[in-house]
Amino acid sequence: MIRYYSTNRNLDGVTGITPFKGRVSFRDALLQGQAPDEGLYMPDRIPRIPYDDIIALKGRSYTEAAMLITQTFLNDEIDAGILRTIIEDAYPFPVPLEQVTDSTHIMRLDQGPTASFKDFAARLMARLMGHFRPSGGRLNVLVATSGDTGSAVGEAFKGVEGIDVHILYPREEVSGRQKKQLDTIDGNVQAISIDGKFDDCQNLVKQAFADPSLAYLSFTSANSINFGRILPQMVYYFYAYAQLHRDREGIVVSVPSGNFGNALGCEYARRMGLPVEKLVMPTNENDEFPRFLETGTYEKCSPSLACLSNAMNVGHPSNLARFFDLYGGTVDRTGLVHRYPDIETIRKNIFSVSISDEETKQCIKDAYEQYGIILEPHGAVGWRGLEIFLEHHDDYSLCVSLETAHPAKFPDEIIQLLDIMPEVPDSLRGIDDRKGEAVQLPADYTVFREYLRDNLKSKA
Ligand SMILES: *Cc1c(COP(=O)(O)O)cnc(C)c1O
Repeated sequence: MIRYYSTNRNLDGVTGITPFKGRVSFRDALLQGQAPDEGLYMPDRIPRIPYDDIIALKGRSYTEAAMLITQTFLNDEIDAGILRTIIEDAYPFPVPLEQVTDSTHIMRLDQGPTASFKDFAARLMARLMGHFRPSGGRLNVLVATSGDTGSAVGEAFKGVEGIDVHILYPREEVSGRQKKQLDTIDGNVQAISIDGKFDDCQNLVKQAFADPSLAYLSFTSANSINFGRILPQMVYYFYAYAQLHRDREGIVVSVPSGNFGNALGCEYARRMGLPVEKLVMPTNENDEFPRFLETGTYEKCSPSLACLSNAMNVGHPSNLARFFDLYGGTVDRTGLVHRYPDIETIRKNIFSVSISDEETKQCIKDAYEQYGIILEPHGAVGWRGLEIFLEHHDDYSLCVSLETAHPAKFPDEIIQLLDIMPEVPDSLRGIDDRKGEAVQLPADYTVFREYLRDNLKSKA
């Protein structure tokens, strides 16, 4: 049985932290989101997938790949038939693999309902939470968001039985488009527009979680550090490899990285038996990780820089704690290193480089002119990182770079750089015509608590 421990378990004697020494089930890790000591949950054993099972996925559907991988973690907590139903419901969209050169490919993870790769994780997590919720009870998901994560999470939970989602966002800090996306999800998902800043939204959520008088509402979070969001992100690496390998060769994967959750999925995939020769993790100008690999000293970027690839504007990646743990180190959520990991082994497995906004734009142009492929800023960071890696190591015959959002989400940049209008996928069409209103509340906890008491349900 796989159990989940906290990345902070060894931090005895550190002020402000009471290390959690226990181990919990997948279900508890999923519903709690993070460990009681604010560490991140890690599986205490990593299952191996036999190589022949991996290549047997060739020509099979994405659903089959998702079954094979997730079952190895979940088989003693969920019935295989139920898991299959959940997975089929989560992934009704394609995962295109585009060949670019003889040896390089782009995997497009942008075909879900909100057109970013976050749909993969959010949709499976939502359905697993629906399955694992207390019987007869209702779960209330509270999320504070400043942008894209909120709509991915909201869409993912839409129609999931037994769960209501409440998304708080700062009224003046989201774009008109994003506001429309959040306000109109409908059904069991309600947007709450707060007269305040993102920090105010986060504080309201934190206070509600900590309020014993609201415990009957069974709050849970759906944040990016939930292990339930990491597990689904292991799957597409296996899927891509099985479809693309020719001669059982190894693979180089490039993952444009912000909070490192996506790249962590690849790190686990390698430990499970996928022959990943190198994990390339390019960042934007927030270069704390490539600098760490170069110098051996970790220093977060504070404050973080605002770059074109805005979903990667992260100065201290939340999942770095998991990478450190896997390589024998410990870093806490403030960015303080308590024990350094084995950096030589990290360097052997991982390559990282910082890509400036200038290079990102140039790459969008070059990729279009040279190969006719359209990339948006995040995918361009990934592709440029792969190119730089290959400039120094040209003997890899199978490489995949991830496109993590749909170019139509960045029309201004694409028009300006390529002078074309990216085709808008069905999922993004018609948003402007959708109807729905946010609840409007001040940034005041007493008012927020009254709202929760009056409007939230605790029973199925
Ligand atoms: C969130 C996001 C990323 C970064 O992924 P991490 O898992 O945080 O490293 C990259 N691209 C897009 C489009 C994203 O939304």
